[in-house]
Amino acid sequence: MTDSSSTLSSFPPSTRLEPVIRVSDAAVTLGGRTIWQGVNLTVQPGEFLAILGPNGAGKSTLLKAMLGLLPLSAGTIAVLGKPARRGNAAIGYVPQRRHFEADVHVRGRSLVQLGLDGSHWGLTIPLLQSHKARENKRLVAEVIELVGATSYADRPIGELSGGEQQRLLIAQALVRRPRILALDEPLDSLDLRNQQGIASVIRRISRETGAAVLLVAHDINPILSAVDRVVYVAHGQVAIGTPEEVITTETLSHLYATPIEVLRASDGRIVVVGQPEEEVSYHAHRAR
Ligand code: ADP
Ligand code: MG
Repeated sequence: MTDSSSTLSSFPPSTRLEPVIRVSDAAVTLGGRTIWQGVNLTVQPGEFLAILGPNGAGKSTLLKAMLGLLPLSAGTIAVLGKPARRGNAAIGYVPQRRHFEADVHVRGRSLVQLGLDGSHWGLTIPLLQSHKARENKRLVAEVIELVGATSYADRPIGELSGGEQQRLLIAQALVRRPRILALDEPLDSLDLRNQQGIASVIRRISRETGAAVLLVAHDINPILSAVDRVVYVAHGQVAIGTPEEVITTETLSHLYATPIEVLRASDGRIVVVGQPEEEVSYHAHRAR
């Protein structure tokens, strides 16, 4: 890795902890249903947050609201001190369930490059253009290295494994050097070893670049050692804190309004008993 001041690896350590995201009394209503309400959350630079909860609870909705892709029905969301807005280069986003079929011949490196092409350089002088092209090539190579994908980045993406594809999608989200990385179920359908591997890559990237991470996950266990705090979305409400604070019998029973038992295995794994897999719709009526 080079030592140029513009590289990801030399991102200055944050000295003042101004929150990168501030969610205040926020609510989202979709199709006449309140998805969640009364959400308050601040995210610090370099923090790793896991967003957990049953299917349909509103986890993706929370990321989309931060990305300015959905309007709030109440409250505010500020990203780096400004209202959340679409196309904010400060957030690198990998949407849910993105994968490539076997017949996709685009090379991983080109996919990562696409993450840069969305930005406008506004340069017309040929010499500067070629300088820019070299610079872009270097940036792309750097993020590919950062996610550990160098050995397969020039292969057609459709031929790669789910874990390899996911690393390249994360590299694409990183290439504009975002202050925030929003990843919607990036570990979905990966085996346990790959889930842990990608979680530790994301943790390291967050440390090296100072980027805050918001990662939607189905299971806390593969990422437990990587996360700082969890955001648990269920029943139109959100509980926030360390895993020890939030994933407890008391907090989850309260959030789901039904008895839930949280057990901790001797190896540290968390087992949640009685947790509905799908969000039941009655909360929608209650919250309306
Ligand atoms: P999660 O990511 O936690 O599985 P989502 O945030 O995708 O849940 O969705 C939360 C709820 O909002 C779901 O019940 C979903 O059906 C509903 N929903 C999502 N998008 C829309 C929309 N555009 N219009 C109406 N309802 C929606
Ligand atoms: Mg989702």
